[in-house]
Amino acid sequence: MSDWEDEYDQDGVAIYKPATKPAPADWKFSCNDRERENVVFGVKNGTKFGAPRETRANRSGPGPEVNKWGGRGPGRQTTFSKEESSRPLTITVETTSIGRVIGRGGATIRELQESSGARIKINKGGYEGEVVIFGSTAAQQKAKEMIEDLVAEGSRRGQEYEGRCGGEKNGSVWSTAELQAANVVQNRPSIDWDAIRENKEKYKELKWKDIPPIKKEFYTEAPSVAMLTAEEVGEWRKENNNIFVDDLNEEEEKRQIPNPCRTFLEAFERYPEIMENIDRVGFTKPTPIQSQAWPVLLSGEDLIAIAQTGTGKTLAYLLPGFIHMDGQPVPRAERDGPGMLVLTPTRELALQIEAECNKYRYKGYKSICIYGGGDRRGQINLVKDGVDIVIATPGRLNDLQMNELINLRSITYLVLDEADRMLDMGFEPQIMKILLDIRPDRQTVMTSATWPTGVRRLAKSYLKNPMMVYVGTLDLAVSRNESNQVDDLSSDMCLQGLAVQSLHGDREQCDREEALKDFKNGRVRILVATDLASRGLDVHDVTHVFNFDFPRNIEEYVHRVGRTGRAG
Ligand code: AMP
Repeated sequence: MSDWEDEYDQDGVAIYKPATKPAPADWKFSCNDRERENVVFGVKNGTKFGAPRETRANRSGPGPEVNKWGGRGPGRQTTFSKEESSRPLTITVETTSIGRVIGRGGATIRELQESSGARIKINKGGYEGEVVIFGSTAAQQKAKEMIEDLVAEGSRRGQEYEGRCGGEKNGSVWSTAELQAANVVQNRPSIDWDAIRENKEKYKELKWKDIPPIKKEFYTEAPSVAMLTAEEVGEWRKENNNIFVDDLNEEEEKRQIPNPCRTFLEAFERYPEIMENIDRVGFTKPTPIQSQAWPVLLSGEDLIAIAQTGTGKTLAYLLPGFIHMDGQPVPRAERDGPGMLVLTPTRELALQIEAECNKYRYKGYKSICIYGGGDRRGQINLVKDGVDIVIATPGRLNDLQMNELINLRSITYLVLDEADRMLDMGFEPQIMKILLDIRPDRQTVMTSATWPTGVRRLAKSYLKNPMMVYVGTLDLAVSRNESNQVDDLSSDMCLQGLAVQSLHGDREQCDREEALKDFKNGRVRILVATDLASRGLDVHDVTHVFNFDFPRNIEEYVHRVGRTGRAG
């Protein structure tokens, strides 16, 4: 439904009734069929359309007081009948006038609405834009006049400037817009960047002044870990996918990199409930990334984990996250929002991480998934009910954040999962906005399959002196494969009588979930998919991956064929 349709009942009568500040009683207007006036302000030949201030003041009769809106005095009492309601009145103005004169630069739309009792909608075009005015005829007229006044005022100032400067330009008169633009350029003060930076720091300090204390250190090195020699550690790392750990601390000397925990007990002896959960799911030993990530994260350091999916990276950040949340000085009951946030690029990954989260059920922590395409209202209700862990795609979370439907201030443990993929998908602006509302002294984990420039930049901006754990080569950048022959191919297969499902970004969310479910539980044994399925999707027992198209780069190839060899 469009904004236009919103305004009328079934009989075409305007149902918007603002009229809080009535117009003069002696005004009579007809109910025209979407009345339109083309009023072009500030045109190049200097002609101004729209009645001058005096004319309108006369027309309205002697008011008790002439205000800045062209002669309307306060206190006039008029009631409007339904017949006096009118269809929208549209006036055309130069696009440059909108914004400078009518929008933020002059009176705000809100001011105009409050003073006139009409509702105003602006449709910006190219050279010209439309100001659409809804409401009773009188309110529309009043709003129109106020707008005319504002634009005329802008023109008058432009003419004064014109007088001062000569105003001729190739034989024609400068337009208001040009004059205003020139004025802006000439009078613009130089920007004091130092002051802006200082203010930014002050604002940040102020913003985070009252946050409760945070605790990040939860690690006690087991004697069996502490006694490992440097050679033994080197040997272990070599044997475990040649895992490599580095300290990216730029400010001080490099720190001691913790030795790996080769067993679950070495990492979690102090946390029996974690051990119970691990026993319950039946894992026998940590994967290499887990062995190295756990001591780093439990020590409270930020971490970048460069790891292929299927290496157990989710558990690598989840278990320390549980311990971190449980150990915060502010008790869970007093926390006014979630404690952990996992940002992830796709809905499928979000759902998968949630499933992994729910497998452990640590201390009854409640997790929810927030993703675009899902039921927004339902997600909002879940947030309202109270939640400990939010697993979200950046777009939808940013939407809830901007509408103040979720509190991010309580988050102390942040995960940027598959950062390279999130950047490939263009989520950087949303991530930036989300992170503005998360306390800067949080603990941050970033995972990525690759280490291209964008991911390095993200890491530098949002992690503090992180340690880095990685397996394999780092110099390959991933680009998104958007080719989509999936529908054709799966239809061909269906016609051949094969039971297939298809997965690609253009399918509805429910269809994508259905497809994945069918494939996971064996209802269909063939999944035709784009690279959406190439990373992070945890499907067991895939025996064959056919590359119908050759992947664009070797890294994507690795992700695709990696579907056959999960968890190491
Ligand atoms: P991820 O790389 O996080 O997508 O994990 C892939 C799969 O490995 C998931 O199904 C995990 O449950 C499983 N997994 C995680 N850690 C281990 C482990 N230590 N041993 C065996 N499987 C694991």
